[in-house]
Amino acid sequence: MILLDGKALASTIEKDITNEGSKLRNQGIVPTLAVVLVGEDAASCAYVNMKVKACERVGIKSIAKKMPENVSEEELLKIIEELDKNEEIDGILVQLPLPKHINTKLVLEAISYQKDVDGFHPFNIGRILAGIEAFAPATPLGVMNLLKNYNISVRGKNVAIIGASNIVGKPLASLMLNAGATISVCHILTQDLAFFTRSADIVCVGVGKPDLIQADMIKEGAVVIDIGINRLENGKLVGDVAFESVSKKASFITPVPGGVGPMTIVSLLQNTLLAAKNRKIKN
Ligand code: NAD
Repeated sequence: MILLDGKALASTIEKDITNEGSKLRNQGIVPTLAVVLVGEDAASCAYVNMKVKACERVGIKSIAKKMPENVSEEELLKIIEELDKNEEIDGILVQLPLPKHINTKLVLEAISYQKDVDGFHPFNIGRILAGIEAFAPATPLGVMNLLKNYNISVRGKNVAIIGASNIVGKPLASLMLNAGATISVCHILTQDLAFFTRSADIVCVGVGKPDLIQADMIKEGAVVIDIGINRLENGKLVGDVAFESVSKKASFITPVPGGVGPMTIVSLLQNTLLAAKNRKIKN
């Protein structure tokens, strides 16, 4: 079994981003990301801090906009509009989930697709689905880059994706389909999950349930990508895969932490750098 070391790969990619970023700075271009946080949710605050710190490490300027939980939808949309019009800013990220009184769809669509470095705008989603170059959501992009780096081709492979959210499962299915895989997308209503996972060469799980994937649910030699992040009562961070037993059967497996998580952050940085190039380098 080989561990898919997302942490090490992300740190190598960060070095490349730092080098590319400093070349841009020499041309007077400062890649800039605006990070919007609404409320005080501990997990959201932690994710935002991680993203801001990652920007600092690679020389991307970040502008954090923090708003109270009770900010009105109108006020939030006004702030997004200002950020969107600001020529200095290349990418805008709105940390999800937003409070219930705010229409997330409206907020995400208020970001112009050129600044949508999270890849959540329907324009970018549609382009990804059609196999046209676009900003892909950071987690699926990170998974694809991790597989590529370990020379794991998805072409002609059977892939089971467990979890069908707009930010993880669905865009990952599009990227893998475009890369030539045969995909089963499973979700809470899937009747016999093991039927799909057992026939898969590659199993990707992003659900949020510790130990959902057990050793008897995967075939010998499968590649297992654990996207889930769960904090246990004892404070330990685990994924959705029963790592101890599954790792004995898998050919490759991601650890949690240190697998998909760091790849997600670095993919956001890559998207931001790309947005800066697209917007600020004149042909
Ligand atoms: P979500 O709640 O939006 O979606 C969960 C999906 O899992 C849904 O499609 C649901 O139908 C499915 N599901 C739920 N229970 C299931 C079951 N028993 N069997 C099969 N499918 C089931 O969640 P999300 O935002 O997509 O996040 C999913 C997980 O991925 C969470 O643990 C989250 O923390 C993690 N995550 C990790 C990263 C990262 O960088 N590693 C990024 C995003 C999300």
